[in-house]
Amino acid sequence: MVYDFHAHTSLSDGALSPMELIRRALVNNYQAIALTDHAATGSLSRIIKEVSEVCALARSYWHILALPGIELTNLPPQAIAETAKKAKELGACIVIVHGETIVEPIEKGTNLAALHSPHVDILAHPGLLSLEEAKLAATNGVFLEISARKGHCLTNGHVASLAQQVGAKLLLSSDVHSEQDLLTLPLADAIIHGAGLDDNACHQILNINPHALIKNLPANCQG
Ligand SMILES: [Zn+2]
Ligand SMILES: [Zn+2]
Repeated sequence: MVYDFHAHTSLSDGALSPMELIRRALVNNYQAIALTDHAATGSLSRIIKEVSEVCALARSYWHILALPGIELTNLPPQAIAETAKKAKELGACIVIVHGETIVEPIEKGTNLAALHSPHVDILAHPGLLSLEEAKLAATNGVFLEISARKGHCLTNGHVASLAQQVGAKLLLSSDVHSEQDLLTLPLADAIIHGAGLDDNACHQILNINPHALIKNLPANCQG
């Protein structure tokens, strides 16, 4: 079973409608998917409202945990904490922050701001994460992402090694933008091993950590 907490739909720059993406995830053996379209501030409430409705409908008829979420993208770091809080108040189950990937000009300080916010669940593609940031992720329980996405994946090995060193928790995400990006278990396994991690870490990332994340969600996000 695949757990994937980072996905884009036509509400931002993804190709599929929210319902079609959930449907395709379901037939690809997904157990859970979070729809986390890009937003800064303006589109926040519109996107969360729309994906919440779609996820609720999918969950009531299909056996998949479809979760409304958001990926805070290109916000000034100073605005991340308050926007993450607002996203949770608006009903987002999962808040991720578009981290300092090496392939986009993300403002420095984004990783730190995300890791300091109690309302951020996952720091996506954190790029050249520092040791201090990795320690903060471990202390504050923010998951660090191993990315299946081209470009963002270039620092997976670095992120994996720092996370292991300090005991920060990792998750693997597809960052799907169209149907061919959906994860399969063999691909997930290969990406994690490709980041230099072993079978134990693989089990942790693909099973234990997703369950830990879901267990800590509010009751209305659990099923
Ligand atoms: Zn995108
Ligand atoms: Zn993304």
